[in-house]
Amino acid sequence: MKKVTQNHPVPAGEAVNPGDVWLVGAGPGDAELLTLKAWRAIQQADVIVHDRLVSEQIMALIPATTLCIDVGKCRGRHPLSQTQINQLLAELAQAQQRVVRLKGGDPFIFGRGGEEMDFLQQQGIRCCIVPGITAATGCAAAVGLPLTHRDCAQSVRFITGHSREGEPVLDWPMLAKGEQTLVFYMGLSHANRLSQQLIAHGMTGTTPLAIIERGTQPQQRLLTATLATLPRLLAQYQPQSPGLLVVGDVVRFCRYPALTLMQDDDVAAAWIDDDMPTKQPFCC
Ligand code: SAH
Repeated sequence: MKKVTQNHPVPAGEAVNPGDVWLVGAGPGDAELLTLKAWRAIQQADVIVHDRLVSEQIMALIPATTLCIDVGKCRGRHPLSQTQINQLLAELAQAQQRVVRLKGGDPFIFGRGGEEMDFLQQQGIRCCIVPGITAATGCAAAVGLPLTHRDCAQSVRFITGHSREGEPVLDWPMLAKGEQTLVFYMGLSHANRLSQQLIAHGMTGTTPLAIIERGTQPQQRLLTATLATLPRLLAQYQPQSPGLLVVGDVVRFCRYPALTLMQDDDVAAAWIDDDMPTKQPFCC
């Protein structure tokens, strides 16, 4: 029986060895947000197993001789199941390849990195983790949106807007409390439902929100609205995946050009009263 491998510190500069699998975070898209460790692992790999969130800019950094395997998942379409991905990684490592499993953002934040690491370690395979900038911090920085602020957000929550069964079961009373920022990953397809739940559990309809589409990438768009105007914003601008939904008063500090929809008189007034920064029309 194989010994289950354990995690241990990866010394600075250590090479990707034959038979290793490195789970590497590629960040939200901008290649300059890649860590030096991630870049080095990408250069040393024999095989890179990547998903659809890894941007073209990052893919362009992979040496032409490296074998790239796309196991990307689109919603409703799974080229390879998670079990098949686990198996593929194990087989490549057992064939003494230097394997990099490249994932968008951070491998341990809604990235199934935990499942892959656990499987590989059960097979006796050495698994090293390289963190990446997760979508929440990368996208927020790209539009100048502080996720915490001493005046209005004492904590920030990373929440999945999608579960295995579809809409996730969440603690809505807790999420609807003020003084915090909610960041929903994979939340676009259920966004209307998420806003309805927050309102139903006591959050005011004038609470601002932002959708950051393809954050940090050349095609980035920022959309802002309130919980109450969100349905019209979605219908009008139809944001596409990948997009992040950020809910909370911190959105008021965001001064990046945005597509906004605050047309209800009462909502518009609430923004102005609260020293809302000047909104500019969206420009590229
Ligand atoms: N491990 C990733 C998250 C994977 S879940 C990370 O740490 O970022 C996939 C979700 O992440 C997408 O549905 C979207 O909500 C978010 N996401 C990832 N990259 C994004 C980007 N460049 N812009 C906006 N949202 C992004």
